[in-house]
This record gives sequence, C-alpha cells and structure tokens, in this order.
Amino acid sequence: MPSQFVQDIMGVVTFRNPGEPEFHQAVQEVVESIAPIVVKHPEFIKMRIVERIVEPERQLMFRVPWVDDAGEVQVTRGYRVQFNSAIGPYKGGLRFHPSVYLGIIKFLGFEQVFKNALTTMPIGGGKGGSDFDPKGKSDNEVMRFCQSFMTELYRHVGADVDVPAGDIGVGGREIGYLFGQYKRLTTQFTGVLTGKGIAWGGSLARTEATGYGLIYFVTRMLKSRQVDWDGLRVVVSGSGNVAIYAAQKATDMGANVIAMSDSSGYIYDPDGIKVNTVRVIKEGERGRIREYIDNHPSAEYHDGCQGVWTIPCDVALPCATQNEIDAAAAQTLVRNGCFAVGEGANMPSTNEAISAFRDAGIAFGPAKAANAGGVATSALEMAQNSMRTAWTFEEVDRKLMGIMDDIYDQCIEAAEAYGRPGDLIVGANAASFIKVARAMIDQGLV
Ligand code: NDP
Repeated sequence: MPSQFVQDIMGVVTFRNPGEPEFHQAVQEVVESIAPIVVKHPEFIKMRIVERIVEPERQLMFRVPWVDDAGEVQVTRGYRVQFNSAIGPYKGGLRFHPSVYLGIIKFLGFEQVFKNALTTMPIGGGKGGSDFDPKGKSDNEVMRFCQSFMTELYRHVGADVDVPAGDIGVGGREIGYLFGQYKRLTTQFTGVLTGKGIAWGGSLARTEATGYGLIYFVTRMLKSRQVDWDGLRVVVSGSGNVAIYAAQKATDMGANVIAMSDSSGYIYDPDGIKVNTVRVIKEGERGRIREYIDNHPSAEYHDGCQGVWTIPCDVALPCATQNEIDAAAAQTLVRNGCFAVGEGANMPSTNEAISAFRDAGIAFGPAKAANAGGVATSALEMAQNSMRTAWTFEEVDRKLMGIMDDIYDQCIEAAEAYGRPGDLIVGANAASFIKVARAMIDQGLV
C-alpha cells in the first residue's frame, strides 16, 4: 500500500512537472519516507494532503532585463515559487546562478516548507532566484540587475506576505540593492527581506547562522555516538557563506578542517585550513579558492571540485550545492572511514548516496534539519524587525543553539514514534509533514 501510494503520487508529479528532475528527486525522498505514516491517517488521505502539498500555491516567472557595463541589453529570467503558507508567510532564499530554472526553485521551495516547519517558527515555504550569474559582474551590473528583479518582485512580497533571503550568489550586497529598490517602489521600510545589513534592520549572527547551526546539529549527532569534535578530520565542500562559518565553528570546537572547495577545485591542508584566509579570499576579494596556496604554500590545490570527497575524513559537511555527493563519492567516503555526514547545502546527496550512507550505518543529518539554522535566524530577524529591537550576537546565537537542539530532538522523537529509531531522515520528514498537514486541515480546502 505505501509503495503504491508513492508510485501514484510520483506519477502525477512527473506528469505535471516534466523535465524537472531535481524537483522529482526532492518529492520522492519525502513521499517515500512519509507514505507509511500517511496511509495510517485517513484524514490525510481524504483531504488529499500529499497531492496538495506537492503542488505550489503559486509560481511566478518574469522577465528581468538589465544593461551591462558595455551598454548591452541583457535578458534574464526571475522566479518566485510560493509553495506553502499553512504555517506562516512564505519564507526562503533567492538563488542567482546560471543553473537556475523552475525545477531548481521548486525543489528548493518544496524542501523549504518542511525545513521551516521544523524550526518551530511561524514561517511557510517559498524560494526564488534567477539565472543571472553574479560571478565576474561589476557592483554596478549587480545593482542594475537587482533593481530590475525587484521592480517585478515587489508586487508579490511583503513583511507579512513573503520574505525572501539569500542563497547561492545572493549575499549582503545583493540583499542591500534589492531592499533599496523595494523601499523606493513602496516607500516602506519594512522587514521584507532578511540578511539585511546590521545598521538597517539585519540581525547579528545571521551571516554565521547556517554554518553554526549545522555544527550545533552535528554536535548532537556525534554526542549520540559518544564522540566530540576534538581532533576529528573534517572535509567541507564549498567556500561560500555556509561553508565558511561551518568550517570556522568546527575549528572552534576543536576539529581539524582539512579540505574546502569551490566550483573549480579544492584545497587540502593536513595541518588545518586557516578559515580566515578563505574568508578574506571569498568574501572580501570574491576570489578563487586556489589563491589559498599563495599564502599557505604547504597546502595543496587540485582542479575539480569532486575530488574533495576522496580525502579520508571522519566527518563530511557538503556545503556547496545539490547532488554534489553521488553514490560513488558516498562509497569512497564510507570506505575511507567517514562516520558522520551533515548536510549544509540543500539536497547535496543523491538518493543513491543516502542509501549508501544508510547501508553503512553512518550518522546522517539531512539538510532540512541540519541547515535550518539559517532560516530560523532569518525568522529571528523578522521578529526583531517587528519588535523594532535588536538582540546581541550572544542572544541570537543562544536562541539558534536552542532551536537546533529542538530540531534534533523533534527528529529523534518522530523517528522513534514511527518505528525508525535514530533515522534522522524519517524523523525530519515525519515531524515536519505532520505539522504542515494538520495546519492545512485546520484551514480548510485552500
Ligand atoms: P554561496 O554562494 O555563498 O556559496 C556557494 C559555494 O558553493 C561556493 O563556494 C561555490 O563555488 C560553490 N558552488 C556553487 N555551485 C556549485 C556547483 N554547481 N558545483 C560546485 N560548487 C558549487 O552560497 P551559500 O553558502 O549560501 O549556499 C550553499 C548551499 O547551502 C546551497 O545549497 C544553499 O541552498 C544552502 N543553504 C544556504 C543557506 C544560507 O543561509 N545561505 C541556508 C540553508 C541552505 P564558486 O564560488 O566557485 O561558485
């Protein structure tokens, strides 16, 4: 019965959303783990909760024309998928990357619904972005693009409607330009975006939150196996916002971060990567990770980002992008003795990789739980904006730690309740699905 249910749902999803493999993959992962629960709840079946939850409430696609520094007109495409508002206004980041198309935004929006439910904060799920590539663009080009993007988006967002944030390619600079244009168009200074500058409504610790939250979550995973971070060899993929602060917090906790990457290649430093150097290169200079060896000649640089998974480690933290760990990479990690994986990126492991980790019995923290600290802290930014107040770094960090602990406990309890003790994937999917499903039932057929 559960497998027939999965087949039926996937049949509709693939028919209705052709050519969107990432979205199919994200739905399959969730539906497979909740099917045994759904079939035991006739009210979920009767109200067609799963059929409704896989269908976005609204999908927006729009033209974003802008002029580059050479005076040439460029045409890019913008997206905002408002997936589910059962438990609060839509909330989720914007991704600017040439690989963006509707299927990527839908997979991210779908995941966001469940992640946001786990945070215990009142936020629904959404996601957006563009195929615009900020890499190599001047600040003025990025500004002109952001202004054009917001000139359409502003009609669809608002502090109580939909609150976007950053993601790949969208950091403080982009949020600033987007916010400025929103304010100009609406004459309102409201908390319509999170990840804002500290001087104009941003929250302390938001920049660090996803990476720090990931480490707080993995700390609980390790603790359940009576292990702490001291001396553990950690491989972190990516060198963006999530990767940098995960690497920094892991180092603070006593771990030895030996490798990091970007989309061109990876660095290996057996003595421990100096995270501050990476931060200066990537955040300050928008440079490439290979420049690290200019300052640290004992480290190695290798072309090709996939090689990072061949480095023997105890803990792997994929913090770059979707599907960066396939079955072969997962098997290599397991063979080399890796015993814990915490997903900082969204859907970084293919479903085959997850099976390999499960078969090997290693500790696995799925993205929607492990990287939820970013959006949780965005919700704390929204709370501070509504209250017209600002909390200290320590206060926000303490709340973040409490939220990550709570997410971990919810996952463990739900996994136990549904007969899969210790399985954080089942726990995360079950706990969040039930919360959203009940809210949808309470609100009638909408
Ligand atoms: P950034 O843009 O700051 O950094 C992305 C990093 O990943 C860069 O090092 C980039 O390399 C690398 N990367 C991007 N695309 C690819 C690719 N196709 N192949 C290999 N490497 C790639 O993004 P974030 O750190 O914000 O996001 C990273 C991941 O974390 C994403 O999956 C995002 O959805 C997820 N996430 C982010 C949150 C946040 O608060 N920022 C919250 C929760 C999840 P290069 O510099 O060469 O492009």
